[in-house]
Amino acid sequence: MTTTDLTDHIIELEQDYLVQTYKRPPFVLSHGEGAYLYDMEGKKYLDMVAGIAVNALGYADPDVTQALQQAAGGLIHVSNLYNTAPHAELAAALVEKSFADRVFFSNSGAEANEGAIKFARKMAYSKGFAEQKTQIVCFSHAFHGRTIGTVSLTPKEKYQKPFKPLMQNVIVSEFNDIEAAKNVIGTQTAAVIIEPIQGEGGIHAATAQFLQTLRDLCDQYDAVLIFDEVQCGMGRTGTLWAHEVSGVTPDIMTLAKPLAGGLPIGAILVTQEIADVMQPGDHGSTFAGGPLVTSIAKVVLDKVSQPDFIAHVNEIGDYFMERLSEINSPLITEIRGRGLMIGLEMTVDVNPLVAKGYEQGVLMVNAGENVMRFVPPLIIEKQH
Ligand code: PLP
Repeated sequence: MTTTDLTDHIIELEQDYLVQTYKRPPFVLSHGEGAYLYDMEGKKYLDMVAGIAVNALGYADPDVTQALQQAAGGLIHVSNLYNTAPHAELAAALVEKSFADRVFFSNSGAEANEGAIKFARKMAYSKGFAEQKTQIVCFSHAFHGRTIGTVSLTPKEKYQKPFKPLMQNVIVSEFNDIEAAKNVIGTQTAAVIIEPIQGEGGIHAATAQFLQTLRDLCDQYDAVLIFDEVQCGMGRTGTLWAHEVSGVTPDIMTLAKPLAGGLPIGAILVTQEIADVMQPGDHGSTFAGGPLVTSIAKVVLDKVSQPDFIAHVNEIGDYFMERLSEINSPLITEIRGRGLMIGLEMTVDVNPLVAKGYEQGVLMVNAGENVMRFVPPLIIEKQH
């Protein structure tokens, strides 16, 4: 079989056997190195997607590869019934590098947000407000996941409509609108959830004043403030955590995408006060925080949190923005974002440009219909 025949065969299998929830382009990726991916026919693609903000260290990072080889000969899974070194050491490292006091691991971003909602609901329950304090406030253009709970907090008609009725007592308030937030958050609010920089919604940053207002309102009404840093966290925006620049800290922060460099993991980082209300049996997961995935996450976290690494993200992010702003096109209306989380808003649907990129050997992804999103591996250099 030629590589072309093999490619056609794989595409046929995909079309015949996978549930068609993704429209995949007509090539089959086979390997990668650094910021480049290669398809089965040997074509090279510069990757500006990084598995949608996942592969922070690109492909075939030598430290990740070595750690994986070492971990593969050890324990892969033992259950959360038991202790292993990697999950404890990763939790300690996350706590040391953040506002948090404790960590609960999950397997994905949606699952981390599901857990965060449960933690917040348990907080209200343990204070004696079982039924009165169940409202969750989220914001316009938010994306928190695809499970029934998290899709309820993702106010996009296309994602929600076929799955109604969704989770009860969710209120959608306008992103960055201080007065609107003041009108909806009250004693009935159990939690407020926000992405400090919205990803899927089109790369929109929350202002520091807005985050501070949410912090103040949550303090005033005894509600839990959740920052969803599943996409914007872990160095992507030029600080280890995206919320750092605002000076506002949450009660819970959720992480996922880049944490284990491409292996599935999520994490719920919490204050001691939140941790204290969660008792044995209140939440759990079969796979989460297993020794293989957490040992790799520790390697990724150690690398990404180095000051030199973060400085590199800032330098390349600034350079990227600068070069993008030199493109003189009436079709571009705004270039926004921070670090290597950049959105290029256009007057047109960007999807034909994504397809053009495939032809030219550049992988790109949209964030909404008219925003091109650049979330490359954080290791890219000026030449890329
Ligand atoms: N939260 C944010 C901000 C995201 O961008 C995503 C995924 O894109 C999720 C949650 C859901 O993560 P997952 O796809 O791992 O469930």
